[in-house]
Amino acid sequence: AERAPDPARGLVIMDNWPGYDLNLFTYPQHYYNDLEYVLIPHGIIVDRIERLAKDIMQDLGCCDLMILCVLKGGYKFCADLVEHLKNISRNSDRCVSMKVDFIRLKSYKNDQSTDQMQIMGGEDLSTLAGKNVLIVEDLVGTGKTMRALLSSIEKHKPNMIKVASLLVKRTPRSDGFKPDYAGFEIPNLFVVGYALDYNEYFRDLNHICVINEHGKEKYRV
Ligand code: 5GP
Repeated sequence: AERAPDPARGLVIMDNWPGYDLNLFTYPQHYYNDLEYVLIPHGIIVDRIERLAKDIMQDLGCCDLMILCVLKGGYKFCADLVEHLKNISRNSDRCVSMKVDFIRLKSYKNDQSTDQMQIMGGEDLSTLAGKNVLIVEDLVGTGKTMRALLSSIEKHKPNMIKVASLLVKRTPRSDGFKPDYAGFEIPNLFVVGYALDYNEYFRDLNHICVINEHGKEKYRV
């Protein structure tokens, strides 16, 4: 039986998905030996975000939105999402007004999750009281990061909090956290590109790719 797609999973990429051959796309020369394959080409990322914007506008209707972009990995997703939200509100009678703020959470070293999470930058979280908050994040893995951020924000009593994550990783280490909006559900692989980094490298790659052993070694800190 056919089922409706689950918005908390988004476009599901199966474990046996071979990806696309890198040689069929363009990407920076300095990464030529460092990647395994293209998991999601840039054009598909942007097309999927266009639909997420439509879904968000449909659900939220008329409201003031405070968009909280989680840096650095979320900056491309946030920029493209805001662009589409703007286009929709310009071309319809829906009246979403948006503010955008940026925060940083630091918790990752190499490709291993560490336990501490620190919120840096952005306005004081107390300014979110009574606001409609949309958190825009690059990737939900175990879910620990999002849960920690949500509990910090909830203390300040916003009117609403929604989470949009470009990627959701299928990992046995997941604590079950699901975003309200997800772009893609991906296998348990370390991915880079479209602002997602490996020790600050690969943010300047427009497709979402799987890094190879050579790349991991080359940019290890
Ligand atoms: P969680 O707390 O959900 O396990 O971790 C989420 C964060 O870990 C994401 O915001 C992202 O910064 C980082 N992360 C998890 N998996 C990956 C990955 O495959 N690639 C990159 N670049 N970052 C990841």
